[in-house]
Amino acid sequence: MMESAKRVAEKKDWIKGASGDWEIVIGMEVHAQVLARSKLFSGASAEFGGEPNDHVSLVDAAMPGMLPVINSFCVEQAVRTGLGLKAQINRRSVFDRKNYFYPDLPQGYQISQYKQPVVGEGQVHVDVEGRAVEVGIERLHLEQDAGKSLHDQHPNMSFVDLNRSGCALMEIVSKPDMRSAEEAKAYVTKLRQIMRYLGTCDGNMEQGSLRADINVSVRRPGAEFGTRCEIKNVNSIRFMGQAIDYEARRQIGILEDGGSIAQETRLFDARKGETRSMRSKEEAHDYRYFPDPDLLPLELEENWIAGIKAALPELPDEKIARFMKDYGLTAYDAQVLSAERASADFFEQVARGRDGKTAANWVINELFGRLNKEGKGVDTTPVSAAQLGEIVDLIAGGTISGKIAKDLFEIVWTEGGSPAAIVEARGLKQVTDTGAIEKAVMEIIAANPDKVEQVKVKPTMLGWFVGQVMKSTGGKANPQAVSDLLKVKLGF
Ligand code: ADP
Ligand code: MG
Repeated sequence: MMESAKRVAEKKDWIKGASGDWEIVIGMEVHAQVLARSKLFSGASAEFGGEPNDHVSLVDAAMPGMLPVINSFCVEQAVRTGLGLKAQINRRSVFDRKNYFYPDLPQGYQISQYKQPVVGEGQVHVDVEGRAVEVGIERLHLEQDAGKSLHDQHPNMSFVDLNRSGCALMEIVSKPDMRSAEEAKAYVTKLRQIMRYLGTCDGNMEQGSLRADINVSVRRPGAEFGTRCEIKNVNSIRFMGQAIDYEARRQIGILEDGGSIAQETRLFDARKGETRSMRSKEEAHDYRYFPDPDLLPLELEENWIAGIKAALPELPDEKIARFMKDYGLTAYDAQVLSAERASADFFEQVARGRDGKTAANWVINELFGRLNKEGKGVDTTPVSAAQLGEIVDLIAGGTISGKIAKDLFEIVWTEGGSPAAIVEARGLKQVTDTGAIEKAVMEIIAANPDKVEQVKVKPTMLGWFVGQVMKSTGGKANPQAVSDLLKVKLGF
């Protein structure tokens, strides 16, 4: 397979070997379970968990004579995902049988798509620490998941749980376009984010709804591709980085010792942080692919695809661009706020009709900071968007100072209630009454004659006076008014 564009990583991404620099080349096959109520070819529940073999129809158990019936909802989700990956949607695709024997595969074959997948070439834009990287998509196809073999329940027996058998998977194959573990991690993160925005996959890696096989090879910068190894069983983004770095160093070690890489499938051992050989790479012909005679080719109408396209939600890239343009946010803030659709929506509720940057500051620094500390998400936040918006308004209108606003946020977080009413009831209002401020200013000046002398030769001491007045007014004085008045009284 060709990469999308001849790209050599930046020198800083190269790995120093004993005999010069090396570059890592990575391509990924991501399996994403379609978020659907029922399976790809049967009406059984596709829900995670349940007692073993609770969610199994006669089709999933491959009883003789049972026929698969395509779940159109799953097809729609594959098309929506394809559109989210800016990919070609194929009007005609074919389901094939991929034949192999495994106890958790009762049919003796997996229904998949081989030569004619439902989605063709596309592209994912990835931001790696401020650097833009385009990762090409080779294809996306639909296939069935297998069941699960359980070996650790009994000393000399194995069990098979078919709950997952027949669930719809989207296999998303990237081009070998990534050049570092960072890029690979950013790619999977972005893929997950796009699917979560679309609602086509929940992206839960612990439950196995998102799994990645990572193909890794190394080469001299600018040289032809080397032989690759495929790493299976990597179930977290952090582990992906570890697996790639370990595997690249292993291959470099072999090559520098004059050896060659055997194309094989390897397993990542998270405990040891190593990859180890599992089996030599199987070839396509080993699977004896052929079109499944029980299923007609999948034919999609142009209108149907156009309708789906028109109804797609705004996706992360567009949202980030709009946040930067409409609210004047930095790329970084726009990305943080857009990480999840729910957090972006929350921000927009706070920002609507207000200053975008102030709203972003409050959402990111105060709210997200606090939520992270408590292990909560925006869906369970004790401070609603309306309440946070009200706090921002109270600052903007000069009713409270920024310092009091933080205290107010704490009160709303722990006790709830209307921020404006709390300010009223607890006397948190900023003192704008010049008489009261003047009184406090004069008291501080009278009590500190030595400092008054010092500030005359060292004007930066003014800050100390402002601080003292703020303290004596319980943080409620308007700092600008205090500073202005001090300047007059101290004869600046
Ligand atoms: P196969 O048909 O053997 O599964 P594919 O051509 O479908 O191989 O590629 C599978 C994955 O391996 C793709 O994600 C692709 O980007 C990646 N890949 C292909 N060649 C290389 C290579 N030399 N180094 C790293 N990854 C590669
Ligand atoms: Mg492949």
